[in-house]
Amino acid sequence: MEYLNFNEEELTADVKEMSLLEVRNVCMQCQNCSLAKSRTNIVFSDGYANAPVMLIGEAPGADEDASGVPFVGRAGKLLTQMLEECGINRETDLYICNTIKCRPPENRDPKPEEKVSCSKYLEAQINIVRPKLIVLCGATAAKSFLGDDLKISQIRGNKYMIFDKIPATVIFHPSYLLRNHSEEPNSPRWLTKKDLTAIKKFIDNLK
Ligand code: SF4
Repeated sequence: MEYLNFNEEELTADVKEMSLLEVRNVCMQCQNCSLAKSRTNIVFSDGYANAPVMLIGEAPGADEDASGVPFVGRAGKLLTQMLEECGINRETDLYICNTIKCRPPENRDPKPEEKVSCSKYLEAQINIVRPKLIVLCGATAAKSFLGDDLKISQIRGNKYMIFDKIPATVIFHPSYLLRNHSEEPNSPRWLTKKDLTAIKKFIDNLK
């Protein structure tokens, strides 16, 4: 894959955009797992190709499958609102994608073989965007990278190194926050705002 051979200087925002488009075009034709049969659209990404932070969710839901854009349903709108409240611009500070690009039926968790089949697209996205920080959004995405035995409440907010020493952290998935309305101290929403504020500080420190 040619886009894996760029050195750091060659990877301008324009080159990243074009390289991601190339991968997306391949992905749109993908029939590598059974999810290809039931999808309406592949859900490749949203946000900025040269963003400092990559946010990775688990899999597209119904709204995402219909639109082809990640995190646009009720949960996505809550995420966008919380990002804005913490000063993070979804369009310029983040590159957003999922571990797999097609919606699993009935919103079930992706199967291990589906994640394996789809991993080459995510790896290409990470290699092209080269984020300074990866944010794993929700338990399923986090377990894909950090291990199946972990509980989200234990790993949320911690720092990890994944993908050849890229710093990573874990936040609650916004669909979980939709079911937990409290904003009291130490509630999931309160903790998520704390995490997003720390991510905003990380972004600001890069400037
Ligand atoms: S989920 Fe990934 S591997 Fe499976 S068909 Fe969609 S793009 Fe291809």
